[in-house]
Amino acid sequence: MNISDRILVTGGTGLVGKALESYLGDNTLMLSSKMCDLRDFEQTMKLFNDFKPNYVFHLAAKVGGVVANTRYVGDFYRENSMINTNVLEASRLVGANKVLSLLSTCIYPDKCPYPLREEDIHAGEPHASNFAYAYAKRMLDVQSRAYRQQYGCNYITVVPNNLFGKHDNYDLENSHVIPAMIRKFHEANMNGHDVIMWGSGAPMREFTYSEDLAKILVFLMRDYDEPTPINVGNTLELSIKDLAETLSEMMNFKGNIIWDLSKPDGQLRKPSNGDKLISLGWSQDMYTDHETALRETCDWSVKNYKNLRGVK
Ligand code: NDP
Repeated sequence: MNISDRILVTGGTGLVGKALESYLGDNTLMLSSKMCDLRDFEQTMKLFNDFKPNYVFHLAAKVGGVVANTRYVGDFYRENSMINTNVLEASRLVGANKVLSLLSTCIYPDKCPYPLREEDIHAGEPHASNFAYAYAKRMLDVQSRAYRQQYGCNYITVVPNNLFGKHDNYDLENSHVIPAMIRKFHEANMNGHDVIMWGSGAPMREFTYSEDLAKILVFLMRDYDEPTPINVGNTLELSIKDLAETLSEMMNFKGNIIWDLSKPDGQLRKPSNGDKLISLGWSQDMYTDHETALRETCDWSVKNYKNLRGVK
């Protein structure tokens, strides 16, 4: 990947896209759904024919939390399948040198040996709460490998764990745990309410700062050419309860956190194995520490509250 290469970032307006933007050169197109609806093949092909990307970071997806994934299960399957099929096919037709697509650790089988290893992605049913999104993402891996085998396309797939950072989605129906908590604490501070969180807070999860993921994606676009997916992300586990307490302190929240035990906890742990990335030269201490990353995210969210995605 050289400075003169044309780089297309699908999902350029999202959490990961915004973090990636500062690491790429002037010949980069950060795509939004307003510029091109990737569910539509004609629009996708026109965009690819006009821009003729050499490298594609394929980040665009219909993304949501448990509520949206369960309620709109058919939409999640159809829209993600269409977006992925169209982007890989258009990339092939214009002869892009390489495509890097994002999967997610939430597509791993529900019952799977820990820590999650790349070779187990297709080894069983995904968790029922997001099975349609998970299967659509798994097919992105299948299509990438099939195109490599038949057409010789250098298409790679990357599997991040839970992400957070600036420019996240704060819509309570679609958001992930960190932006949802930040929004709840901020609004409770404004209104003097207590805060209600789902479940017991006992589950442990891994979280990666979007700025760190961006650096890894650039590194893999340059240096990883294998057909098999690669897990990436900070493998330090935090309990949801510890996360809530850390965020409440950072947000100066003085009320009570009430844990709604009638809501499901989900899986207790979902640790991922990061050995493959480490074997390429990445190490755990290259990640921003959670204290710094969470504080930066809280400060940014408060400063930009009125314009946050899902709030405005
Ligand atoms: P966001 O929800 O923040 O952004 C989604 C992006 O996709 C937006 O830029 C949106 O454009 C674009 N998009 C959605 N639908 C379409 C469409 N029909 N046509 C064109 N563009 C579209 O996602 P993230 O940045 O959080 O996620 C990026 C990738 O990382 C996704 O593939 C996701 O599955 C994966 N991932 C995310 C994790 C997380 O915790 N966030 C965890 C693991 C994997 P617009 O805003 O203009 O509508």
